[in-house]
Amino acid sequence: YFERELGAATPPPHSGRERPPPSGPSRLREADLEGLRMRVSGEVSTEEQDRVCYSFGRSYEDLIAWRDLQPVPTTDAVLWPTSADELQAVLAFASAQDLAVVPWGGGTSLARGVTPLTGSHRAVLTICLGRLNRPLGIDPRTDSARFEAGARGPEVESYLRARGVTFGHYPLSFEFSTWGGWISTASSSQSSSRYGEILDRITSARWATPTGFQEWKSGEAGPGGIDPRLMLASEGTLGVLVEAGLRLAPSPEKSTVRAVLLPSWAPAL
Ligand SMILES: Cc1cc2nc3c(=O)[nH]c(=O)nc-3n(C[C@H](O)[C@H](O)[C@H](O)COP(=O)(O)OP(=O)(O)OC[C@H]3O[C@@H](n4cnc5c(N)ncnc54)[C@H](O)[C@@H]3O)c2cc1C
Repeated sequence: YFERELGAATPPPHSGRERPPPSGPSRLREADLEGLRMRVSGEVSTEEQDRVCYSFGRSYEDLIAWRDLQPVPTTDAVLWPTSADELQAVLAFASAQDLAVVPWGGGTSLARGVTPLTGSHRAVLTICLGRLNRPLGIDPRTDSARFEAGARGPEVESYLRARGVTFGHYPLSFEFSTWGGWISTASSSQSSSRYGEILDRITSARWATPTGFQEWKSGEAGPGGIDPRLMLASEGTLGVLVEAGLRLAPSPEKSTVRAVLLPSWAPAL
């Protein structure tokens, strides 16, 4: 179908490489790695494959650079903390050692949000939230569920559906994107007109920062007087979201999916 409608696909340039090269070697010192490994029980990787793969999101620029095997700014290490305390300890260490930090949920950012820019810092770390993916329970008082930030769409959905509820948030990246990523980007979905915008449905949130944790509950002023919506959707610039609660809705009794394939623009319009 694509070949007929769009012409034969252009094969990617062949160079024998499977992925783009890194922009340079890791700039971390042995003492940095020792300090990080003391704080994180999950992996701390400076392997080229991890550094390159966790430096790309899904923006047009990212996809073209990957296809053309062009180097993009490459993170100096990828870390997988396994608890909020470990993550907070990394932020404190990074701040003291002049290291920039980029939180990485599912890496589906279309806006280069996971590009590891060093800025004025000495080097940059990418913190993958994938090990912080546990459900933290349903609160019947507020009709809400809490999850750790790294829980992906299918993990969230299967936990909730087994309990007869849904959160009704289905961005098209649902399979790969995360609870924390959805909130931190104020994402919307094709079901938002039915269930409401994600920022209006958050009941609680907890962030790790270099100086400790910040917490917020719906109806309260934001931490430090910051507008809670700004804090929630700050994409990691004001703190790393480690868990959040979201108002639920009953599961639909029945759902159907239909797709329509149109032969050309005219009937579609
Ligand atoms: C095929 C496709 C379809 C998409 N469809 C939609 C759609 O329907 N609706 C929509 O709104 N978007 C959509 N997007 C964009 C993207 O999926 C959303 O922005 C999503 O919310 C990002 O979630 P993520 O977990 O992948 O976050 P990432 O891409 O990993 O991160 C996004 C940003 O948030 C920050 N971040 C991630 N986790 C945290 C955290 N725990 N604490 C603080 N900051 C954090 C990152 O540093 C980055 O700046 C789509 C993307 C793709 C590739």
